Amino acid sequence: MVNYSQIILKSGKDQSLKRFHPWVFSGAIKEVHGVVNEGDVVEVLSNKHELLGIGHYQIGSIAVRIFSFTDAEIDESFWFKKLDVAVALRKKLLQPGSSKTNVYRLVHGEGDGMPGLIIDFYNGTAITQMHSIGMYRIREQLAQCLKNVLGDELKAVYDKSSKTIPYKSDVNAEDGFILGNSEPEVVSENGNLFHVDWKEGQKTGFFIDQRENRRLLQEYAKDRDVLNMFCYTGGFSFYAMRGGANMVHSVDSSEKAIELTRKNVELNFTDDQRHEAYEEDAFVFMKDIKDRYDLIILDPPAFAKHQRSLGQALKGYKRINTRAFEQIRPGGIVFTFSCSQVVSKDKFREAVFSAAAISGRNVRILHQLTQPVDHPVNIYHPEGEYLKGLVLYVE
Ligand code: SAH
Repeated sequence: MVNYSQIILKSGKDQSLKRFHPWVFSGAIKEVHGVVNEGDVVEVLSNKHELLGIGHYQIGSIAVRIFSFTDAEIDESFWFKKLDVAVALRKKLLQPGSSKTNVYRLVHGEGDGMPGLIIDFYNGTAITQMHSIGMYRIREQLAQCLKNVLGDELKAVYDKSSKTIPYKSDVNAEDGFILGNSEPEVVSENGNLFHVDWKEGQKTGFFIDQRENRRLLQEYAKDRDVLNMFCYTGGFSFYAMRGGANMVHSVDSSEKAIELTRKNVELNFTDDQRHEAYEEDAFVFMKDIKDRYDLIILDPPAFAKHQRSLGQALKGYKRINTRAFEQIRPGGIVFTFSCSQVVSKDKFREAVFSAAAISGRNVRILHQLTQPVDHPVNIYHPEGEYLKGLVLYVE
């Protein structure tokens, strides 16, 4: 057995680990036995020296991310088993590999008992994104384990952690292939095609988490005039077109996003005059859209990345939703989202409720949306439920 260094918690600080919450905050640590470097595997013990869990150590407010709550040897077979379970879950729930959907999330951090690790699958290429030094250090081992699990289904693994691992660490992460080689290609989601650029694109190249919500939108689109605000790859736009929308306007402040949206719409609906894309700031575009649309999608970037920007973020959600409620045609539908982890479901609702009240319109909730099954939420880690959405009917 390998002897891992040990972290002893202060008395009374063991409760959250006993409830299987996977984070140890630095303030809970009493002492360290042995030498501990960033990214090392450590054992976490209570003040009475009972083993509470094993995880990766990191300098910062979250000091340890736990991946085992029982005694275990953390070796290749440990990671193989974890990945095997994660892949089996997707295969059972999503039937991946079908020509209709070949893009999905394989590993969702804490939701799959692997804090710090994200793996998205794009039709044979896995994109890894590490949020902890511990996971980054073992990236090649993880890639090999994934290959052992997926066999020929996996052509290549590309690591894209340079922007996600903590900038203060001494690891100089560079993006690149860690197994095999492949070219960005077209992927299919529910039969809709997308050009994906995992090298240059946002996150791992595509917002996989909106798959089911896009499908729901399709059902509401018939004969409507649609505004897809914050369109990025244009996904909501061509689901709306597929659903029989009358016309669709896609808006994003990024030139690249608008280019990508145009390219994707063309790929799915060649020469279709119903679509128009605009490179513009959301708040500017929505200044004067009175009675122009009867279906509006608001899927902004995470307005808050940290607790300290929560207040500003809530104001942002309130402002943008107010603009939509005030101007949408009577009988209109709003799909509104927040993907900020620090904005709770209740706080997001409050912001949307305030926006409705300011507009003075009669607003009803039709659906409450969240992330799909390949982004599971660990029940002991409620923070993992980051995507929140409401579908609203505006009288
Ligand atoms: N709805 C998209 C994901 C949106 S991501 C999908 O289904 O894939 C958020 C997008 O908002 C990004 O493309 C970003 O370029 C854009 N964005 C950020 N700030 C903006 C602003 N002020 N106005 C318009 N777009 C903005």
